Amino acid sequence: MLVDTHTHIHDDKDRAGSAEEIFAHSHMQGVDKIITIGTSPKDSLNARDFAEKWAAKGENIYWTYGYHPNEYYEKDRQNLADDIKIALEAIKSAQNVGIGEIGLDYHFDGYDVQMQRELLLEMLQLAQDYRKPVSFHVRDAFDDFWPIFDNFRLVTSVMHSFSDSKKNLSEALRRDLYIGVNGLSTFADIAHAPLERIVLETDAPYLTPRPFRGTMNKPGYVRNIADWAAEYYKVELGTVASITTKNAQNIFNI
Ligand SMILES: [Zn+2]
Repeated sequence: MLVDTHTHIHDDKDRAGSAEEIFAHSHMQGVDKIITIGTSPKDSLNARDFAEKWAAKGENIYWTYGYHPNEYYEKDRQNLADDIKIALEAIKSAQNVGIGEIGLDYHFDGYDVQMQRELLLEMLQLAQDYRKPVSFHVRDAFDDFWPIFDNFRLVTSVMHSFSDSKKNLSEALRRDLYIGVNGLSTFADIAHAPLERIVLETDAPYLTPRPFRGTMNKPGYVRNIADWAAEYYKVELGTVASITTKNAQNIFNI
């Protein structure tokens, strides 16, 4: 059994097929637990509705409340306190397994360091107060991220889609973060954590793994990332599945 610990399949307009097709394909590939990740207040509530609907139909689908740094605009600032209140209620959902994605992203021009920091602090407080694991998104911003992270006491969490330096990989591991490994590993030369410290994810519909580059990603492709990992770590596929599934279960309590 495999788990997709970070995907975005709740948006009907941005998915590689109907929800039925996505779940059927996932089961065929042995991907039986899926965490769909929110990226804004509105998107997170969509993730909740989607997860609750499909969980009621018997799927092992979970969701997180997230607020991606690139989704937070000047106009959203006045609503932040209200959005946090709504989040507090929403995360009582039986299918909620965490906070994320949240973090810092300085990749694209026009980012506002102060705003990203303000949002991250609010979301980390939420994660700490409610003892929720976090799916972190950090890009080109680790020097600012670590001092903020170190001010909180979080339960075991994940650095999703890590592709930064060996140094920042060590920084993440020494803080007991797990590393989210996705399709990037199948086509990019990046630093990798030991197998014991990774979880698998697709980040669908983005970051499609080989050999499906050029098509839309979906949770069933976790199987292809697991195949990559078996080759990279020189172990059986079953070993990759049992270790990464156990890690995902321990972190997200699923
Ligand atoms: Zn994502």
